[in-house]
Amino acid sequence: MISLQTIAKPSPIHFRPKKPFKRPPKTLTPIHSLLQYNRKPQLSGETPRVVVITSGKGGVGKTTTTANIGLSLARLGFSAVAIDADVGLRNLDLLLGLENRVNYTVVEVLNGDCRLDQALVRDKRWSNFELLCISKPRSKLPLGFGGKALIWLVEALKNREEGAPDFILIDCPAGIDAGFITAITPANEAVLVTTPDITSLRDADRVTGLLECDGIRDIKMIVNRVRTDMIKGEDMMSVLDVQEMLGLPLLGVIPEDTEVIRSTNRGYPLVLNKPPALAGLAFEQAAWRLVEQDSMKAVMMEEEPKKRGFFSFFGG
Ligand code: ADP
Ligand code: MG
Repeated sequence: MISLQTIAKPSPIHFRPKKPFKRPPKTLTPIHSLLQYNRKPQLSGETPRVVVITSGKGGVGKTTTTANIGLSLARLGFSAVAIDADVGLRNLDLLLGLENRVNYTVVEVLNGDCRLDQALVRDKRWSNFELLCISKPRSKLPLGFGGKALIWLVEALKNREEGAPDFILIDCPAGIDAGFITAITPANEAVLVTTPDITSLRDADRVTGLLECDGIRDIKMIVNRVRTDMIKGEDMMSVLDVQEMLGLPLLGVIPEDTEVIRSTNRGYPLVLNKPPALAGLAFEQAAWRLVEQDSMKAVMMEEEPKKRGFFSFFGG
């Protein structure tokens, strides 16, 4: 495993003070860990659960996570609305293959040009999943659009005739400027997506501090694009190292998988693939844990990934 000293670690003063992190024991019982996924997860917490998917750095997998977790939640039987809050560079609709069905956006709803239900795009594959885009690509937002507008939107979703959704997922833009602040305002929990590299980690750490300042205490992380071969060759940080640096509970570990890129280009989210892809299974398990507000108790076995096979990726 890579020791932290072998990676150019930023000065500790740039990192938030962490709760002491206890490394989990290195023994796993994969069969027991996997059996629990045969039952339906029990929804915990008050609904709608408003979850922002964020990262700081761009291109680490926020939109991929939003699409796959959103559809996994729907497959598990929960209703979910995914809001694309990446205003200038929206692409959640593309990943979901719903780009041709977005006729209205939140901007038109706020202008009084359409009703909220006209802006919600219902997925034909899983009808308890809906997409909501903030604005048309390359269009400008109305002056003063901000966190209050999103709070209004969440309230409007709560008060719909068919009842409030179980989950509202907000796909956050990269960076920590106005778009980020707007996206996190209505959220009461966060999923922080990071890749195991130092630039992504530093941004994730900064974002965690900002989320905490905003009163969001329930923050779990997804470590994306993990490669066991590189970890084994000490060319990539291990998941445990990431956990040690960020001090956050782990919602999921997603392997680097070419199927993700294929599914992105086809507009067909990975979790719908048959047979399931590795990353798709990992996203499904992360969604499962999100429902129960659980986190991983064991992580990838880095020492012998080949011997133990793929299932040693996941803990209970
Ligand atoms: P963000 O929303 O954070 O900018 P995206 O979800 O758009 O990031 O992902 C950026 C790129 O990374 C996309 O091309 C996507 O297909 C790719 N990607 C994301 N996760 C994985 C993965 N686990 N394996 C391979 N490619 C991935
Ligand atoms: Mg994105």
